[in-house]
Amino acid sequence: MASHQVYPTSTTLADGRELIYFDESPGVDRSAPDSRDLPTVEHHSQVRYDALAGEWVAIAGHRQTRTYLPPANLCPLCPSTPENASEIPASGYDVVVFENRFPSFAGSGPAAGTAGEPADLTATRPGNGRCEVVCFTSDHHATMSQLPASRVRTVLDVWTDRTRALGQHEGVEQVFCFENRGIEIGVTLDHPHGQIYGYPFVTPVTARMLEQVAAHREAHGGNLFAELLAREIDGPRQIAANEHWVAFVPFAARWPIEVHLYPRRRVPDLPALTDGERDAFVPIYREALLRMEGLIPEPLPLITAWHQAPVRTGREDWWMHLRLTSIRRAPGKIKYLAGSESAMGAFINDTTPESVAVSLREVAL
Ligand SMILES: [Zn+2]
Repeated sequence: MASHQVYPTSTTLADGRELIYFDESPGVDRSAPDSRDLPTVEHHSQVRYDALAGEWVAIAGHRQTRTYLPPANLCPLCPSTPENASEIPASGYDVVVFENRFPSFAGSGPAAGTAGEPADLTATRPGNGRCEVVCFTSDHHATMSQLPASRVRTVLDVWTDRTRALGQHEGVEQVFCFENRGIEIGVTLDHPHGQIYGYPFVTPVTARMLEQVAAHREAHGGNLFAELLAREIDGPRQIAANEHWVAFVPFAARWPIEVHLYPRRRVPDLPALTDGERDAFVPIYREALLRMEGLIPEPLPLITAWHQAPVRTGREDWWMHLRLTSIRRAPGKIKYLAGSESAMGAFINDTTPESVAVSLREVAL
C-alpha cells in the first residue's frame, strides 16, 4: 500500500499566530488572508511548583475570557463565510492546526525543570511551550468515528507531525495530543477538534508512570508495559485486536468506560510508528470508538489521550499508547470526580472492567 500523503501549508493569522493547513490533495490555494482585526494575543502563563505534590501547576488567568459555546452559525472552527470570519480564513479545509488564542502555555525559553525539585519552594517559571488546536474536519456536526478512514489516517499523520514539531520547540519537555468531547467535561466548542499541548515539564502522570517502570526494571528486570500488555492480549478484557494493535479495558480501570489501545511493538511516540502500524491503527481506533459510543444511546462524553514518552527522558522504556475514557456510567448518569478522586486521588469505579469489556464486545457494529 502506498504511504498516505498530506500536504502542509503554513500561514499566519491576523494576530501573528501560525495556522497550518494539512490537505489531502496537492496544489490547494491557501492564500486566503485573515481579514479580521484581532488584538495581539496576550498570555501571561506561568508555572508554579507545588512543593508538597512535587508537581508543576500552570497559572493561566487570561483563559477566563475564552469563547464559550457559540451558536453553530458563528463557530470559530468552521471555514470562513461572508457572515462568519472564523479562525480558518479558507472557505473549506481537510485538517487544520493553529495556535490557540487562549494558550495555557506559549513562548520559547527554558523548560521549567526536568527532574527533581527546584531549590526555591515557591518556584515560578514562565509558562513556555505551545498550545495548538486541531480541527479534524470542516463538517461541524461530524464525529471522529464517522469520518472516512482516509481522514482518520490524516489526523494520525497530523498528530505525528505536531509531536515532532513541538518536540523541537525550545522548552517543551512533553507533547500531549488529546481530544475533549462533550459539554459534560467542559468542552466550550462543539466543532470536532482536538488539542495539542507542548508542556515545559514532564507531566505528573507520566513522571509517576516512569518511576513505576524504572522501579520494576530495578526490582525484576524487564519492561512493565510489556508485562502488563502480555496479560491483556487475548484475555477477558480485550475488546478488539489486529496485526499491529490491541484494545482492552485495563485491569484497574478508573473510569466507567475506559479503553486502552497499544501497538504490539514498543514505540516511544507517534513518529516511531511504521506505515503499516499507522494503517492498522485506523480501523481499530474506529472500532473502539464505535463500541464505546454504542454502549449507551446518548452522545458520549469522551477524552482521547495519547500517552507519549517525554521529549528527552524515559524514551527507552516508554510504550506509547492511547487511552479513551468516558465519565458516562449509565444513561443520564455521569461519574463526577468528587471527594475521593479530587482530594485523595483515590478512584472508585462503579463498574467492573470485565463486565464493561463483555458489553463492549457485544455492541453490534
Ligand atoms: Zn463548526
